[in-house]
Amino acid sequence: MHDTIFHKIQRGEIPAQLVYEDAHLFAFRDIAPQAPVHVLFVPKRDYATLNDVPEEDAVVVGRLATAAARYAKAQGFAEDGYRIVMNCNGDGGQTVFQIHLHLLAGAPLGRFGTPG
Ligand code: 5GP
Repeated sequence: MHDTIFHKIQRGEIPAQLVYEDAHLFAFRDIAPQAPVHVLFVPKRDYATLNDVPEEDAVVVGRLATAAARYAKAQGFAEDGYRIVMNCNGDGGQTVFQIHLHLLAGAPLGRFGTPG
């Protein structure tokens, strides 16, 4: 079974600043924030990368996005705006192999997608 740092956070073996949890997912502050708000949304179901999510489990990914939007509304920055990102494998910059969605907000964000 594959075990990542996020599984350890889920089991409470590593501390994290949890901001949300329900039956399907949990969310906590990124340890190395790339924006004033940087929260990671992680499903409780196990998929190493987005490539491993079958079509019939699309709701798992959808819930990450809608939970991030709910959090943005609850925290009062939804209207100002935010960015959600999922990195996949090497070129995408993925470093933890349990799927997760980044929520970045709190300041105007730079453009993205340039190589390097
Ligand atoms: P990825 O690069 O896989 O898309 O994102 C992994 C994220 O997890 C990175 O932004 C990294 O800072 C964050 N991260 C890695 N280890 C820990 C940890 O132990 N605790 C927390 N809160 N975040 C972590």
